[in-house]
Amino acid sequence: MLFQQVLGHQKVIQHLIEAHQANRTAHAQILVSKEGNGALGLALAYAQYILCDAPTATDACGDCPSCKKNKKLVHPDVHFSYPTIGSKKISTDFIKEWRAAVLQNPYLGINEWLEAIGAENQQGNITKDECVSIVNRLSLKSTEGGYKIMILWLPEYLGNEGNRLLKLIEEPRPNTLFLLVSEQSGKILNTILSRCQLVNIPRLDDSLIATQLIEELQIPAEKAKTIAYLAEGNYNKARQLTEDMDDNNGAIFVDWLRACYQGKPREMVRWVEAIVSGKHTEKDYYIKMGRKDQIVFLHYGLYFLKEFLSLKLGGGALAVRLQQQELKTAQNMLKVIGVAQMQSLIQLFDETAFHVERNGNPRILLLDASIQIHHILRKQVIPIV
Ligand SMILES: [Zn+2]
Repeated sequence: MLFQQVLGHQKVIQHLIEAHQANRTAHAQILVSKEGNGALGLALAYAQYILCDAPTATDACGDCPSCKKNKKLVHPDVHFSYPTIGSKKISTDFIKEWRAAVLQNPYLGINEWLEAIGAENQQGNITKDECVSIVNRLSLKSTEGGYKIMILWLPEYLGNEGNRLLKLIEEPRPNTLFLLVSEQSGKILNTILSRCQLVNIPRLDDSLIATQLIEELQIPAEKAKTIAYLAEGNYNKARQLTEDMDDNNGAIFVDWLRACYQGKPREMVRWVEAIVSGKHTEKDYYIKMGRKDQIVFLHYGLYFLKEFLSLKLGGGALAVRLQQQELKTAQNMLKVIGVAQMQSLIQLFDETAFHVERNGNPRILLLDASIQIHHILRKQVIPIV
């Protein structure tokens, strides 16, 4: 992977390149990041850059024998370590699956990885045997005479066994680079954390994610903006949302608020049935939503309400994220709903999404939410002072 293929993080990349050119590459570094932020891809590009035979001022060449091997994740001097399943298993037992999964999606999260190796409900783990393997692999001389690099993905999965790696970090062999890529740095052993140089990878901007969705996946601009907001800096989640998010969420949401506002029990039941079973006699945009879709829909509702609240509080600029039809509804609702009601609705959506995520019965939860929305909307409007 090349630096130019990494989404964003220009400053970090520049910092890594400058340090390397000045011979100041720290031999143990932790890239501190969040899931879907691209830190693993950044580590791959960094390794490729260091090992490239003909790097430019800004990137690896992409063409030399070393780059060609790195592109396929088969360079003999780049080693990988990551959580696996089974107490006696080590990373190299899963190297085929690892290459396939990372080449397909360098933004992958731990759950997708565990699914790829058939974990089902088993927890991932970086085992004692794996720590021994890391020490062994790094104690060998490099095959091609240059740097030897170990990329350890998710060091938070190291138990106390991780202390076996301390000597390696404290007394490294020459020309070794130990790159840890963490998504939960608070869970890393302190003994390891304190011995590595920290490289903070900032959250990806919403605008950057939206632009990438438009260019890479040809997502319409308004939808891309909504997805970028919902993804909260996680590009992996953003890509999933392009497949999972129903384009009709806006219309379905407006239908719901309308039914709740009118408060006719039959209409509310009909709306809930349309969501859960997809049956609606008049409107053909209702399709059955699985639990995952329902959660995305509720998060969409939360997004709508938060945008709406900022409109109400004077943050007019944010409203551009709403599509034309939703904006019109928002403006009409602005006239009748106060800030306190808005906050109650946000809390209700938050709670409902929480319970749906934890396997609550969606029929009951959505109907209950409908009744509560009705009560919230019909409360006397509290004037804003
Ligand atoms: Zn090269």
